[in-house]
Amino acid sequence: MSVTYNAPAAEKTQQNHVLLNQFYPPLTLDNPRRSPMRELISTVLSHRTTHADEELAYDRMLEAFGDWAGVLAAPTAELAHAIRTTRWPDTQAPRIQEILRRIQAERGAFELDFLADWPMEKGMAWLNDMPGIGLKTASLVLLFNFHKPVLPVDTHVHRIAQRVGMIGPKASADKAHQVLLEQLPKDALTLLNFHKHNYWHGQKICFFAKPDCARCPLKGFCNYYLEHYGPATPAALAATPARWDAAWGELAH
Ligand code: SF4
Repeated sequence: MSVTYNAPAAEKTQQNHVLLNQFYPPLTLDNPRRSPMRELISTVLSHRTTHADEELAYDRMLEAFGDWAGVLAAPTAELAHAIRTTRWPDTQAPRIQEILRRIQAERGAFELDFLADWPMEKGMAWLNDMPGIGLKTASLVLLFNFHKPVLPVDTHVHRIAQRVGMIGPKASADKAHQVLLEQLPKDALTLLNFHKHNYWHGQKICFFAKPDCARCPLKGFCNYYLEHYGPATPAALAATPARWDAAWGELAH
């Protein structure tokens, strides 16, 4: 079935998944990229911060204070200094310490493995109750680490969903979280691939400032493409690469 510019949003979302699944390498659920605690705290550090600066902040924090108990006990100003490569270290330092304090107080240890046994909604509510933990961060932890059927909507997923027309042009990220989840199968593998493929697509092709539409397999039904270039011609569709070429750069994990 060919999906066109005026197709319903749900059809565009499903076709996005099919085409990006062919374009980018498929992922499996085998190995979470990081431990649950690292996923949680790193995502707090990553707010409006590059991946390299987030990693640097994380490494400096653990080098300076040793472990989570050390991070919690550290003078807050020293923690802010250790994570100074992030966008708002003076806000994030007390936030991280409050998250650690609550985890220790409620669970007796700095670990989140209990979330594997909790229903998704309960885990989502528990994480969302932490300072600075929104839907995106909670979803990343629950999907990546515990394979719960949730969809993290970061800036890339949000932008592509708006441009293509999978959500309304003014829908918020939280609204996108709800709408896209309704449009996709509720299985963790599909949602992991959908999230990651759109994340890569936003990083590598559908740039914020100047999307590289010539290389994009979504141009045949993307509203942004239609508005800027008119309907994709057979020649433009035929010239679209079939898949990501490793020579174009590394895909971040
Ligand atoms: S056609 Fe262009 S604007 Fe649309 S998703 Fe692809 S790169 Fe983004």
